[in-house]
Amino acid sequence: MTKGIYLLSGSNLGDKNANLEQAKTLIQSHIGSIERFSSVYETAAWGKTEQPSFLNQVIEISTSLSPGSLLNIALQIEQDMGRVRVEKWGERLIDLDILYYNDTVYSSSHLTIPHPGIPGRRFTLVPLVELAPGFIHPLLKKTNEVLLEECLDPLPVNKIT
Ligand code: ADP
Ligand code: MG
Repeated sequence: MTKGIYLLSGSNLGDKNANLEQAKTLIQSHIGSIERFSSVYETAAWGKTEQPSFLNQVIEISTSLSPGSLLNIALQIEQDMGRVRVEKWGERLIDLDILYYNDTVYSSSHLTIPHPGIPGRRFTLVPLVELAPGFIHPLLKKTNEVLLEECLDPLPVNKIT
């Protein structure tokens, strides 16, 4: 059982709050135990600005799945929830990303851990800092709190719950 695994859940289609809730239910039944989760935050769509805003939440889990199996099940949950993969950064019912897998550093053509988007995305760092401000990024050797202070992403991130 590995602890200290952080996932980012995101939704910008349909009943976004309900989608985040359903994702947590499916994580519990298919991935492992949810230890803690952050507040829900709203952010204007990133990358493409003409689409609805996103809700995001960071979820801390423990699981006996390897990083590769965890990715496969996360992608399966996205599919089961009806995500249609139309274009990169396009609209989606649910997006599940692996941010950190404890202090594991891993890179293949399908999976990069820690998630390379962490230092550049406020919508990831703000909920991450709520849960784990002192967690040290295993490659950058900086805490989440310092990464947020240094983050240049201008998009505002607002707590909604
Ligand atoms: P994004 O999450 O960047 O908006 P997608 O959800 O469409 O885009 O992700 C595309 C691919 O990113 C996934 O099929 C997966 O193979 C790959 N990927 C690489 N690293 C990760 C990671 N840490 N977590 C989730 N997906 C990842
Ligand atoms: Mg994704």
